[in-house]
Amino acid sequence: MNEKVRCLIIGSGPAGYTAAIYASRANLSPVLYEGMQPGGQLTTTNEVENFPGYPEGITGPELMVDLKKQAERFGADIRFGHATATDLSSAPYKVTIDGEKVIETDTLIISTGATAKYLGIPDETKYSGSGVSACATCDGFFYRNLKVAVVGGGDTACEEAIYLSGLASKVYMIVRKPFLRASKIMQERVFKNPKIEVLFEHETVGLTGERVVQGANLVKRRGQSDEEQRHIEIDGFFLAIGHQPNSDIFKPWVETDEVGYIKTIPGTPRTNVPGVFAAGDVADPHYRQAITAAGTGCQAAIEAERYLAL
Ligand code: NDP
Repeated sequence: MNEKVRCLIIGSGPAGYTAAIYASRANLSPVLYEGMQPGGQLTTTNEVENFPGYPEGITGPELMVDLKKQAERFGADIRFGHATATDLSSAPYKVTIDGEKVIETDTLIISTGATAKYLGIPDETKYSGSGVSACATCDGFFYRNLKVAVVGGGDTACEEAIYLSGLASKVYMIVRKPFLRASKIMQERVFKNPKIEVLFEHETVGLTGERVVQGANLVKRRGQSDEEQRHIEIDGFFLAIGHQPNSDIFKPWVETDEVGYIKTIPGTPRTNVPGVFAAGDVADPHYRQAITAAGTGCQAAIEAERYLAL
């Protein structure tokens, strides 16, 4: 028989755990499935310096452990498991976990976050796990005193490059535009770091190496009259070019934008399906911060409580 709950939360980043804290304190007896990456993207971050309440900063994994403990303290039922299918055609809504168990729920909070993007060149797959990574904090340790490259010019790329500069002997940043998109403070940290060399207007066309990455083929000002080829010797190739929202299993029912971000009624976490709410990065193409995710998780739980009281 299917299990029936009042409030189901899918995803375990700051949005999901905050929703669980609020929903359990409101006696909704929420069940939360953690998904493939318990703790979400912040578990792959090193130092979080901008989450209010931590004047000295806190590591991403520690912050997520604290949020989980706080939700469990109020009785949230937090489980291992990954949502694999949904039927949101009518309430109670049905969510399949790990292809087997079906949970029926009166309200659903989608907080499945977003996943790192890749360039799409075949060599990324060829060298996957052999020099190609999308997480410096996870894999940087393997590149002590070696040369690495980070692709991207946003805050994530800067953060990864700075982190890697503490381990590697040299860090290239491969940036396709003539400027960084990152915040000023991150740009300053990158520019004054002697180990980081920023290669503006460069694109990666291929990776080289016997079995493992040993180099990258780059093109400067691709397609222009002064186009230049360049080869750099590197041992690690880190992607930091943004994320894709994890919304696929909800798309048949819930409206998304062209990228896949779930559309919510502005200023609320309400989707087009009554009783189904979206919180955190899966619905946020603009801010994508731990604190904004936590804020929308709170809103989603309050909305679920009000919906159930109607
Ligand atoms: P962003 O979307 O901000 O930046 C992505 C970067 O990757 C851009 O420089 C972009 O180039 C580049 N890029 C995208 N696709 C390609 C491609 N195919 N080839 C080459 N380069 C590519 O993503 P981030 O992950 O950096 O940041 C996401 C959000 O999270 C932002 O709002 C950021 O501020 C925030 N953030 C905040 C942090 C903090 O405050 N501590 C830490 C990390 C992230 P282009 O500029 O040309 O589009």
